[in-house]
Amino acid sequence: MLNNEDLNRYARQVIIPNFDEQGQERLLNTRCLIVGAGGLGCPVALYASAAGFGHIEIYDQDIIEISNLNRQIAHKNEHIGNNKAENLAQECLKINPNISVISEKKKFDETISVDNFDLIFDCSDSPKTKYTLNYLSHKSKKILISGSAVQMEGQLAVWKSGLNEDYPCYECIFPKTFEKAPTTNCREAGIIGPVTSLIGSMQVNEAIKEIALKNYQSTAGSLFLFDGVTLILDKIKLTKNQLCSLCSN
Ligand SMILES: [Zn+2]
Repeated sequence: MLNNEDLNRYARQVIIPNFDEQGQERLLNTRCLIVGAGGLGCPVALYASAAGFGHIEIYDQDIIEISNLNRQIAHKNEHIGNNKAENLAQECLKINPNISVISEKKKFDETISVDNFDLIFDCSDSPKTKYTLNYLSHKSKKILISGSAVQMEGQLAVWKSGLNEDYPCYECIFPKTFEKAPTTNCREAGIIGPVTSLIGSMQVNEAIKEIALKNYQSTAGSLFLFDGVTLILDKIKLTKNQLCSLCSN
């Protein structure tokens, strides 16, 4: 049962059809892992906290630099030199002190179990971390919502291969042979804040649908590509790779 403060805090979302108080209770009982506290991780954590995801754990080992501030919207000038995960957790609790937000000042790797989480947000910009999160999410049957952004383009997808064998996994679409291919990252190629914020907001939009909404249509099995120049959002239907070494055994 929601208490009076919760009913007020979440009043504008529980009145949405198919959401209601049961949806809010499910959000409050959801344990989220957020890997990365940068351009995507900031809007993801802030909106997830505001929406009332009850338990949030944020991983990032990096320190806030002045060049992060054009997009990593939870981090302020006065926070330069602080750890990103720790600062983001503090900013989330300023919005919503009624949830639990934990920061881990370390790099996420395959030794960390995801069994205790219901939902995983991939907000990293490291190909290796993306494969690790895909592997762990698939094996532990968790929902993985991944985002990425560079220059004025962004990508978003919900992966549920461990929960439904008809869905592809991240590796089906981006085989590991790509891992060693040259990548364009924000440091070298550039990025603007509105694009990371849009993709991060969409990651939480999908998370709210997955957890709170009744009678929703999951977008798992599709890849969304956003072009910030033309404002076109492409939806690409994905198919499972029957030779995928992870999910097609
Ligand atoms: Zn696969």
